[in-house]
Amino acid sequence: MTPQYILEKIFGYQDFRGEQKNIIEHILADGNALVLMSTGGGKSLCYQIPALIRPGIAIVISPLIALMQAQVSALQQFGIRAACLNSSLSYDKARAVSQQLRQGELDLLYVAPERLMTPRFLEFLNTAQIALFAIDEAHCVSQWGHDFRPEYVQLSILHQHFSTIPRIALTATADGPTQRDIITHLGLENGKVFIAGFDRPNIRYRVVQKDKGRDQLLTFLNAEHRGDTGIVYCLSRKKVEEIAAWLTRQGWSALPYHAGLDKNTRQHHQMRFLREDGLIIVATIAFGMGIDKPNVRFVAHLDLPKSIEAYYQETGRAGRDGLPANAWMAYGLQDVVKLRNLLEESEANEQHKRIVRHKLESMLGYCEMTTCRRQALLAYFGEQLSNPCQNCDTCLEPVATWDATDVAQKALSCIYRTGQRFGVAYLIDVLLGKSNERIEKFKHDRVSTFGIGQELNKKQWSSIFRQLIARGFATVDVEGYGGLQLTEKARPLLRGEQPIELRKDILTQKKTDKKYSRSSRQAFEGHDKILWETLRHKRMELAIAQTVPPYAIFHDSTLEEMVQRQPHTHEEFARLPGVGTHKLERYAEAFIEVLDEHALQYGDVSTG
Ligand code: ADP
Ligand code: ZN
Repeated sequence: MTPQYILEKIFGYQDFRGEQKNIIEHILADGNALVLMSTGGGKSLCYQIPALIRPGIAIVISPLIALMQAQVSALQQFGIRAACLNSSLSYDKARAVSQQLRQGELDLLYVAPERLMTPRFLEFLNTAQIALFAIDEAHCVSQWGHDFRPEYVQLSILHQHFSTIPRIALTATADGPTQRDIITHLGLENGKVFIAGFDRPNIRYRVVQKDKGRDQLLTFLNAEHRGDTGIVYCLSRKKVEEIAAWLTRQGWSALPYHAGLDKNTRQHHQMRFLREDGLIIVATIAFGMGIDKPNVRFVAHLDLPKSIEAYYQETGRAGRDGLPANAWMAYGLQDVVKLRNLLEESEANEQHKRIVRHKLESMLGYCEMTTCRRQALLAYFGEQLSNPCQNCDTCLEPVATWDATDVAQKALSCIYRTGQRFGVAYLIDVLLGKSNERIEKFKHDRVSTFGIGQELNKKQWSSIFRQLIARGFATVDVEGYGGLQLTEKARPLLRGEQPIELRKDILTQKKTDKKYSRSSRQAFEGHDKILWETLRHKRMELAIAQTVPPYAIFHDSTLEEMVQRQPHTHEEFARLPGVGTHKLERYAEAFIEVLDEHALQYGDVSTG
């Protein structure tokens, strides 16, 4: 069996994407590999296809216990012999899997790293024929990454004890130091590194100035995502709960997810998210690793992520089916202060804190960009995009800038005159000439900057401070009480030797912007819309009967093609993307029946 044959017959796809083919051939030729590919880029096929071709069983190591079962059911839908072993399995189930293992009845086994290390499992590895080891979410091995897992360090056993078996490490998120760590810890020095497909052209990136975050979120959802599946990320557990409850009160179906919820609730909410359509999960970063629901239409951030890697990984959960999706974020200066405080209070050592601080600065810079966001994101991961993307806010609505030299000087000298100890709110009061008890106590109603900033309002000043911080003219002192301090960079500006342009912030949110409304997806109308709904209904019925998520039966993109092509024979049905032999056998009948009935009722003419 060739890789191409498996791709077509089992997975129902015509062509390999990007580097998939090269990676698969490299593994088939006993090579080791590190694969960096964005979320949704198609990493899984890179080990699944070799797993089916190479003799023996492929061992897939993944930290995502809660999701293994979903991955395994999706494979089983393709007719692939797969199973998983982890602590969440019942005794009986685990025994059944062990038996399948002994009898060589499996092609792929997903295991948690701690399970891999048990003496019994190691003994099994010593006796069985192993096709390959795939190490998913490989960045977990690195302390420099953003999701270090100590169990992953022990994976060095793979190259020490099973050096002849190919190892393929996969991740969607690893900067330079993290990549080097993965290579050393997993012994991939003689392997090949594949970096590909970081661009996610169907995702539209947008950052708005946080004013009233919740209301902005609601406006965004109402305008663009009624009835859609999506994820809203917040920084704290408390806020997660609040936003989820609030969205529910507003008539959305939303569930909270964070590490403080008990295990059952977490699993239940995750399961519902995977199985249902039109559900919003409000979550901390605890949610999402390995979530591969393809039709997540939006990812919204109500708080600033800690790094660009985290942001890119989180937003990457949108639009894995390749259809238009949104990555939307509301950000304000408070976020930066909060994250810095969290960081300084943490137990981490100084070196680690420095890395984290640096990552936060990059994130902040991203928010305040005036040029194409996608170009910046890709550049961060070492990929170059030659032209602005035309699918991010700065491309679609170029940012106006203005000569802000004068006001920047006022802001910076106000920091200086008040002793570099006060936060933004205080500084703005001084600039606006608003006296209060504290200001009087420190006699700051007598400094030269008192009341010199009345040409701007509070919001505008806070935008100025935010941009000055993002550009490195001032920093937030987190050892103290979050007061602003000047940096070296501020000097030439203060002395009037250097002009500065800042972005004119769009302070009032526009009503639904035409440009941002959805393009191709679910554009069905009339009879096609009825057909689309009926097909979805059928899919749900089949999914419920087998307790698998609907997308494990067929992706939305397959259903869309069904509406467009309206196949009535098995041959036609087999040509739909995502329909392999196994799914053809299992589902063609049921869906063709729906299509036939529809044709009978509405005639063969699709209406618009
Ligand atoms: P990730 O890189 O995040 O692990 P997956 O392997 O889950 O991504 O793939 C994302 C989606 O793309 C899946 O639904 C998968 O079926 C689909 N896919 C992968 N490779 C191809 C291909 N060559 N042609 C069409 N669809 C593909
Ligand atoms: Zn752009």
